Amino acid sequence: MGLPLRKRNIITTWTRISQDAVFPCFCFACQKPETYLCEQCTALIHATEPLITLNKHPSPLIGVIACARYAGLMKELIHAFKYNGVQELALPLAHIIDTALATAVSLHSITYPLFAVPIPLHARRERERGFNQNTLLAHHLSLMITHTPSILKRTSYTHSQTRLKKHERLLNIKGAFCAYPPIPQSGTIVLIDDVITTSATLQEAAQCLGAYTKTPMWGCVLAHDDIRA
Ligand SMILES: [Zn+2]
Repeated sequence: MGLPLRKRNIITTWTRISQDAVFPCFCFACQKPETYLCEQCTALIHATEPLITLNKHPSPLIGVIACARYAGLMKELIHAFKYNGVQELALPLAHIIDTALATAVSLHSITYPLFAVPIPLHARRERERGFNQNTLLAHHLSLMITHTPSILKRTSYTHSQTRLKKHERLLNIKGAFCAYPPIPQSGTIVLIDDVITTSATLQEAAQCLGAYTKTPMWGCVLAHDDIRA
């Protein structure tokens, strides 16, 4: 038997108050208190519409929705979140993805129900980093989006794609994923990743899931670094 709900709520509230006293939270960009990313700074990211690009080649991946360019504040946020472990940024960053997906729905690019599949890390990479940034993002998405992390796993440990050329990235990621049915058969599968450069990772993940479903698949990323599809 656990504690009664009221007692649990009191403990949770006091834990949060004492945590805030020890680790007060501030807007990452402007230092405004009591938020990790304030409305005004979020609005700076929303100043431009998400970039929605269709795939130029035949592929189970229909296209990619990118919330912003990989530059300025967005680049700093992703660095802090992914490399400096500021996991509290997952929620405000997930809200940015929610908004981009809502825009894509309103433009009829994608249709409900939406199934969010975070691009998985290999277990070894996840141990090294301590978390999977994509899983955290997908976990904090709107309740309108179904979080389905267990249908895709990474089975091979690949070197970082960062310094590789496009054809090297495709080779590096080939066969890196394994699908675990049942895979959604309706709506849209949305592959969640932090940054896109060549779309090699998203293409390979979609290829893997595409063996089990005809459901349209889209990538949705926080930022694009000059997409070279
Ligand atoms: Zn701010």
